[in-house]
Amino acid sequence: MTAQLIDGKSISASVRAEIQAETARFIETSQITPHLAAVLVGDDPASQVYVRNKERACARAGIRSTLHRLEEQTTQDELLSLIQQLNADASVHGILVQLPLPDHLDSTPILDAVLPSKDVDCFHPENVGLMLQGRPRFLPCTPHGVMRMLEHTGVATSGQHAVVIGRSDIVGKPMAAMLMQRGADATVTVCHSRTKDIQKIAATADILIAAVGIPEFVRGDFVKPGAVVIDVGINRVNDQLVGDVAFDEARERAAAITPVPGGVGPMTIAMLLQNTLTAARQAAKS
Ligand code: NAP
Repeated sequence: MTAQLIDGKSISASVRAEIQAETARFIETSQITPHLAAVLVGDDPASQVYVRNKERACARAGIRSTLHRLEEQTTQDELLSLIQQLNADASVHGILVQLPLPDHLDSTPILDAVLPSKDVDCFHPENVGLMLQGRPRFLPCTPHGVMRMLEHTGVATSGQHAVVIGRSDIVGKPMAAMLMQRGADATVTVCHSRTKDIQKIAATADILIAAVGIPEFVRGDFVKPGAVVIDVGINRVNDQLVGDVAFDEARERAAAITPVPGGVGPMTIAMLLQNTLTAARQAAKS
């Protein structure tokens, strides 16, 4: 079997076209332009690329974006003060702090300082709690992007066994929560670095989601024949982007699989645009 390729680039393009149309309608009726403020500290090359891609995507969707670049040596107080300034600025609807921050900065209080109504990454504990309870203000971008991809590809999740490898606050945990939510209705197993026999557990998955951060961690024998494989991983190996799944091995067994690059990554950006539009709509109502 050679798997169907789940083309994140093209799915994301169609989602972004919808967002662009919705944004234009919103601007016309409200006279408000959704505005994303991105904060980039230091000069990590990968972060610069991610922020540039997000800015470009905003521009194409008709969303205003402003980039606040801070020096590597920025202090915790300086960064907090910028966040407070952006919180108070009524023209800003979404605030994005590009991670990772330099080692001397503590990201938790920084992310907690973002006003929940502007927390378009859905990292704030209030928004995580609302999402867990099934009444989201925002949905976290990467897991939401995965759910939209599954939907777009016609992959039903109800009653399916989904195995998520990884339990980070950004990907693994919210991914598991969204899959088990009423409406998605998957039965979810979460694996992490202390899990025994991961290969055996993974091989029982109808939907296998890898968010590990280890290049090609998921080998062919992790994949049940006919499973759907979603590779969230983005790892840089010899200047190339490699996923958490050994693609050539997995595609021989899977029914459908995402590539890296061109899989989950573009969907994450589309969901960020969606959340920025949602934030602007909510601000217009309040
Ligand atoms: P993370 O915070 O480093 O979390 C990695 C998770 O994998 C942890 O839960 C860890 O377990 C688990 N893990 C590590 N080694 C393992 C092992 N040997 N066996 C089983 N589990 C293991 O990473 P993350 O932020 O979730 O990101 C994961 C990957 O997705 C990275 O490659 C990242 O670049 C990528 N990513 C992509 C997007 C996108 O838009 N496509 C967005 C975000 C992240 P413990 O909890 O036990 O340590």
